[in-house]
Amino acid sequence: MIAPHGGKLILRTADSQVEAELREEAKALRHLTLTGRELNDLALIGNGACSPLAGFMTREEYDPVVASMRLANGLPWSIPVVFAVDREEAPTPGSRAALYDGDGELRGVIEVEDVFEYDKRREARNVYRTEDENHPGVAALYERKEVLIGGPVWVLAGERDPASLSPTQTRAEFERRGWKTIVGFQTRNPVHRAHEYIQKCALEIVDGLLLHPLVGETKGDDIPAEVRMRCYRTLLENYYPADRVLLSTMPAAMRYAGPREAIFHAMIRKNYGCTHFIVGRDHAGVGSYYGTYDAQKMFDEFDPDELGITPLKFENSFYCRRCQQMGSKKTCSHDVENHVSLSGTKVREMLRAGQLPPPEFSRPEVAQILIDASRETASA
Ligand SMILES: [Zn+2]
Repeated sequence: MIAPHGGKLILRTADSQVEAELREEAKALRHLTLTGRELNDLALIGNGACSPLAGFMTREEYDPVVASMRLANGLPWSIPVVFAVDREEAPTPGSRAALYDGDGELRGVIEVEDVFEYDKRREARNVYRTEDENHPGVAALYERKEVLIGGPVWVLAGERDPASLSPTQTRAEFERRGWKTIVGFQTRNPVHRAHEYIQKCALEIVDGLLLHPLVGETKGDDIPAEVRMRCYRTLLENYYPADRVLLSTMPAAMRYAGPREAIFHAMIRKNYGCTHFIVGRDHAGVGSYYGTYDAQKMFDEFDPDELGITPLKFENSFYCRRCQQMGSKKTCSHDVENHVSLSGTKVREMLRAGQLPPPEFSRPEVAQILIDASRETASA
């Protein structure tokens, strides 16, 4: 089994005894409310997915991550994992504060080590490669409150979602299934034929696939997680061998930070026990902020040993009528007019109009779910 990032899983979820103590203690602590994104990060810290992080980043961790994609100890880490508050509500370093969600439910406690100012424009330039507020990740960054609080957290277990396995659970499941090599597939979209092809190419050479949809906060126009889960289950039932795939959700928020987020996604999947990670075209990108293969190139900026997990880099793929199969420009020599490819906008238009895209583009069972879902949304 592959070692977690930094050597071991750092688990910060409180057991029932600690939880009872935290609930009692929280009554006397400063009350801080987390955003949806911060709650997503808190869940990942709690279950070990963000190992070696034990909490929200202090300045000592944040600065080198923003500047050079490394934690203070030199380990690769590409995305800030931070908690922001208004200046007037900031607790004193050395104190503890209680962490609540928007509904007023206690979700954890932070041991405040550091309270610090940060430069949003610098973070935007370095992490997102743009200061443009039209970029959804940059927009979320600009909306963040003004000071950051760093320090270890304890996270309450909360309601257990059976569709969301923790790194400890995926690792146990891989072991039970006897998988030694596992490829992780990050997605925030329904899986169409192109992605199915890439996953199956990978499955020809590794033992198992972790289909790992992101279900934290995404852009408003992304397809809801619950609809995507129906698509994945239907696709797997109809077209994949059941004993070669594990479907589990991943509670991270989407940053759309392209290359840097690809590294982040890979480190997280390493913690879940994946040995390989699929990096396709414009991974975690949005609009035209990143070059098609920038995310793949980002992996070359690190020593493979310090990343540990192996990126599997895939080109844009499509069905070719001449080849009569799926392929990419690595495997098909024919002109684009032989290729069945549709823009995302075109596909959405067809689905809204109740039309099935060509079966070479999308499995009809999956497309039907999307058509039904777009009608439900339209009538809602
Ligand atoms: Zn061809």
